[in-house]
Amino acid sequence: MSRQEGVAFVVGASIGGLCVARVLADYFQEVIVVEKDDLDDPFAPRKGVPQGRHTHALLARGAELLEQFFPGLTQDALAAGANSVDLGKDVLWFNHGVFLKRAPGGGVGISLSRPRFEGLVRRRLAALGNVRILDRTEAVEPIADESRARVVGLRTRTRGEPPVDRPAALVVDAGGRGARTPAWLEAMGYDRAPEDSVRVDIGYTTCMFRRRPDELGGRRAIVMGLCAPDWRGGAMVAQEDSTWIVTLGGYFGDKAPLDAAGFLDYARGLQKPDVYDALKEAEPLCEPFPFNIPSNLRRRYEKLQRFPEGYLPFGDALCSFNPIYGQGMTVAASEADALAKCLAQGRDRLAARFFKSAAKVIDVPWDIAVGSDLQNPAVEGPRPLRTRFINWWVRQVFLAGADDANLAGAFVGVANLSVPPTRLLSPDAVLRVARHALGGRPAAAPGSSRATPQTKQAA
Ligand SMILES: Cc1cc2nc3c(=O)[nH]c(=O)nc-3n(C[C@H](O)[C@H](O)[C@H](O)COP(=O)(O)OP(=O)(O)OC[C@H]3O[C@@H](n4cnc5c(N)ncnc54)[C@H](O)[C@@H]3O)c2cc1C
Repeated sequence: MSRQEGVAFVVGASIGGLCVARVLADYFQEVIVVEKDDLDDPFAPRKGVPQGRHTHALLARGAELLEQFFPGLTQDALAAGANSVDLGKDVLWFNHGVFLKRAPGGGVGISLSRPRFEGLVRRRLAALGNVRILDRTEAVEPIADESRARVVGLRTRTRGEPPVDRPAALVVDAGGRGARTPAWLEAMGYDRAPEDSVRVDIGYTTCMFRRRPDELGGRRAIVMGLCAPDWRGGAMVAQEDSTWIVTLGGYFGDKAPLDAAGFLDYARGLQKPDVYDALKEAEPLCEPFPFNIPSNLRRRYEKLQRFPEGYLPFGDALCSFNPIYGQGMTVAASEADALAKCLAQGRDRLAARFFKSAAKVIDVPWDIAVGSDLQNPAVEGPRPLRTRFINWWVRQVFLAGADDANLAGAFVGVANLSVPPTRLLSPDAVLRVARHALGGRPAAAPGSSRATPQTKQAA
């Protein structure tokens, strides 16, 4: 592990900032993370991460990378009350009118509330000898050299104090979807990055309930994909302290109501009754609360002709997804992994090399999210033949996966970003889908009855 000269600054102490700071700690003498929120209560929801109160699933690939960055983190999470989740066996996966069959080898995830998980990651990061986290400290703007070809510092302001200019060998903006990089770049004389955006207007409504272990047939989560005919769905996940966190919603402002009775009623209207059945007797622990996600948004920095050295946007500042696919934290961890590989080759042309690697990391989850959203005819966007074929094929895999544990496991692996999507096109997968189509059990059509034979069978 080579420790190099210079101080690296990271803007934002959320999951993206924590992952990137961990990697930078191997390559810079000192890493300073600045966070505008106060972090006095390490496990509390906070203003700068408003999405943190909503259901957050960490995909298998993300769990693996985070454990790699912070050995022992999984144990920390389990000690803090997390559930270890066998993603093929402990989760009910619903889409296209059917539930996937229980599958071995789908990977293991951990389910813990987002604020608590983030607090544990931050504690691990802060324990590194060359990392400091400055809370109540806002990044005001990066400072460029005279030629404006390189960022050489960061102006910060700690609450109640005057701004300070700090020299930096690298500044990473992990300030989230609303990060100020586009404006900061313009102020330095650079173009804004071209943006790809696919509007979805997903309305999240979340509520917490007391959990009994026998609810949901003993499973630890259910994921109901937003699919035809009503394009509604949600997720219900077991968390610490014997609680369920439940998020329901739909596209284009279709939201579950913000009162307990209305929320339950919305759950009752879902295509399968499992969520409702689990919750109808459960004790609500709060009033339901909302969040709106306007779009999938990808900023294509790799397409810019000019970009300053010594500066990188990162995490949601690069790309934020429709969160129903649970990808953001895993993508941030994967970008950190990509950055580590770039830094292992040195610091020359770091931005160009990182953007190229990050684009590759983002391509798959972007295709999964946007491709799936484009199944909804109300979502606007180009649907080239490739997208239509992939959507059609993934649907066939899912339908066959209702009876075929091998296909179900492959689907879960791809959805968890731990298996490449090409796995769904392997000769074995093609044969299994064909066998199912020719002689297998007929799969239920979308919007079929509320009876749940697949649920029972899967269990
Ligand atoms: C409703 C919702 C549900 C989601 N569910 C999931 C899920 O199930 N699974 C999953 O993996 N991902 C999920 N995500 C995405 C996930 O929350 C993010 O991808 C993840 O937090 C990584 O983002 P980030 O760290 O880049 O940015 P953010 O989490 O947005 O954090 C940005 C940080 O920067 C700080 N900051 C901003 N500007 C400044 C500044 N100028 N100076 C100092 N500090 C600053 C903020 O206070 C904040 O701490 C969800 C997102 C939403 C909106």
